[in-house]
Amino acid sequence: MTALETTTAPVDGAAPTGGERRKQVLLAAPRGYCAGVDRAVETVERALEHYGAPVYVRKEIVHNKHVVEVLTQRGAVFVDETDQVPEGARLVFSAHGVSPAVREAAAARSLETLDATCPLVTKVHREAVRFARDGYSILLVGHEGHEEVEGTAGEAPDHVTVVDSPDAVDGITVPDPERVVWLSQTTLSVDETMETVRRLRQRFPALADPPSDDICYATQNRQVAVKKVAARADLVIVVGSANSSNSVRLVEVALQNGATSSYRVDKASEVQDAWFEGVDVVGVTSGASVPEILVDDVLADLARRGYGEPEEVRTAQEDLVFSLPRELRTSLGLTPTGGSGPGAGSACSTS
Ligand code: SF4
Repeated sequence: MTALETTTAPVDGAAPTGGERRKQVLLAAPRGYCAGVDRAVETVERALEHYGAPVYVRKEIVHNKHVVEVLTQRGAVFVDETDQVPEGARLVFSAHGVSPAVREAAAARSLETLDATCPLVTKVHREAVRFARDGYSILLVGHEGHEEVEGTAGEAPDHVTVVDSPDAVDGITVPDPERVVWLSQTTLSVDETMETVRRLRQRFPALADPPSDDICYATQNRQVAVKKVAARADLVIVVGSANSSNSVRLVEVALQNGATSSYRVDKASEVQDAWFEGVDVVGVTSGASVPEILVDDVLADLARRGYGEPEEVRTAQEDLVFSLPRELRTSLGLTPTGGSGPGAGSACSTS
């Protein structure tokens, strides 16, 4: 991933006078929506427009409270499992992906499915299928119980062992230590994952690597940006929901890279006065499932507290766009890679 390492100049530019403290905001970039989230949310929006409500969605389409609330108001119905959906109804699979067993359960109920699984999650599914077919034990670094991990593990349940942390490595056993590969959840801390892999390789020297990074570009870019912000900030506020893996990781990364304190908030009203005692520089970022409007609200709150215009700290440009799911494109009469608006264009690479 190319880190452009550009930092824009402060907009306010006013130098502090006398003994005045300079209260500053550093705004990490990239932040917020990634290509997979953009596509998943647009899938539900376009499905509601085209087919009408209700459109059922298995699990949260993306892990963000605000997004789920807004889509619910528009007629989306979020369910935990396929058996909560009326036979023959329309069901969207979330960005986190599903196992083959879930697809089979949906087919058994004759559900019309729209698959909003992020293509970068699908890539990891394909790797799991291929390595299992080739007789590998797959050590899947990720959080036990997370929907994405359940979906990936479900592709090859007899071959996959979930590795939750570096400390979990010691308890792992495999049938053939010469035929072992590691894969990972897409939204982990890069640094912690590398530590887990280091420990795995100590135990299994023949450990094979995934063909390409499983931790996705968006997760990596947001961590690089928050590191740069955290090095200069006293406090880092991360906008994102508690069940958003990549948002929670941003708090950890900020604390490990220089921030004195860091907190995750769903929205501006959760920001607390006590956090600002003696704080001159506040960093702000957001997880990959967070609409920018929630960040704007936090910036407005900081402005009311006397913090100046945000200085953007950009470490990468992102231009990745994913096509809408094929079933939806067909219904909408879009060409295979056509359409308008974000998420409707063809997939392309990012910087
Ligand atoms: Fe896809 Fe990464 Fe976004 Fe998850 S965080 S939806 S894997 S791009």
